[in-house]
Amino acid sequence: MPNIVLLPGDGIGPEIVHEAAQVLEVVNDRFKLGLHIESHLIGGAAIDAQGAPLPESTLKAAQASDAVLLGAVGGPKWDSLPMSDRPEKGLLKIRSGMNLFANLRPALLYPELASASTLKPEVVSGLDLLIVRELIGGIYFGEPRGIEGEPGQRVGFNTDRYSEPEIERIGRIAFEAAQARQGRLCSVDKANVLEVTVLWREVMERLSLEYPDVALSHMYVDNAAMQLVRAPKQFDVMVTGNLFGDILSDAAAMLTGSIGMLPSASMNSDQQGLYEPCHGSAPDIAGQDLANPLATILSVAMMLTHSLKAQDAAQAIELAVKAVLADGYRTQDIATGMSGETVVGCRAMGTQVLNALQKG
Ligand code: NAD
Repeated sequence: MPNIVLLPGDGIGPEIVHEAAQVLEVVNDRFKLGLHIESHLIGGAAIDAQGAPLPESTLKAAQASDAVLLGAVGGPKWDSLPMSDRPEKGLLKIRSGMNLFANLRPALLYPELASASTLKPEVVSGLDLLIVRELIGGIYFGEPRGIEGEPGQRVGFNTDRYSEPEIERIGRIAFEAAQARQGRLCSVDKANVLEVTVLWREVMERLSLEYPDVALSHMYVDNAAMQLVRAPKQFDVMVTGNLFGDILSDAAAMLTGSIGMLPSASMNSDQQGLYEPCHGSAPDIAGQDLANPLATILSVAMMLTHSLKAQDAAQAIELAVKAVLADGYRTQDIATGMSGETVVGCRAMGTQVLNALQKG
């Protein structure tokens, strides 16, 4: 019996996970998946209840599960805590505790939302790209790190490091993803300045010999940022390190109209995964029934595809989301004011997806 752990977290997290969990229950029944679903605490909610952003019981449950669905963590209530005790630390710890080295972030523009993007419809219509980001290495984790020295003369420093095995395992995920898509992979680095990415490029080149059906190209990160907003449809799959991936995937998110539409998957080598929307806990709209639950609902679809190998159930969810958008339902973040749109809240959007799913 596959075990699923829900981690609603903070801010809009509980609202969006509630809607996504209902969707998961429906496909569980309809496709007879036999899922066992349980909830645990993470982030600020866990700090308040148990004094730590990632209680041992949550990490154990996540490690023993087949997949985790996370809402979001963080908020102003916990912003004054020291860095090491903040809700976001819970997220970094669960990623490394589950060894989730590969972050997959698709950026797909639904035709109905072309006018919600800040770019011209002809630049983004038909956009379908995947960013593969290394998630537990690079400068976010590298040692030494810190701030040292006398006041007025202090030095802050971090270390960007990747080993060949780390580069190779994320490279393989990206090459395989490209094989299942259009067969094009763009590796993003800064090999004109940073030795760590000279090695990155060398390993990608070496790997490409094993994937002759994938066309590998390389791009410096500054150019990649420019190309993402100039001509994003040139990309199929992009692979990059932790820091560059963090920034580029948020830029790609905005191409699709709203960060509220974008799911993500973080995987380890056992197909175990943590699935979450790309956005944060949105404290500015929390508790007001304004959040867009679609990124979280689409994260459930990614979970079904990657961890549970239930492709039919994933497709049913994706089709239901498309149907709801085609019927004109919009949360406030994706509403454009055009005729034919019905602006709804988080709960009503979830209900519309459930209705579409039940209609089949
Ligand atoms: P955010 O993504 O929470 O919000 C940015 C903007 O997007 C806000 O205006 C918000 O209202 C809007 N937004 C986000 N998700 C939305 C949704 N589903 N529907 C409609 N609008 C949505 O980023 P932020 O404001 O920089 O961060 C807020 C908190 O979230 C911080 O504490 C931050 O540390 C945390 N955070 C958590 C994660 C995570 O849990 N994975 C990721 C990023 C930020």
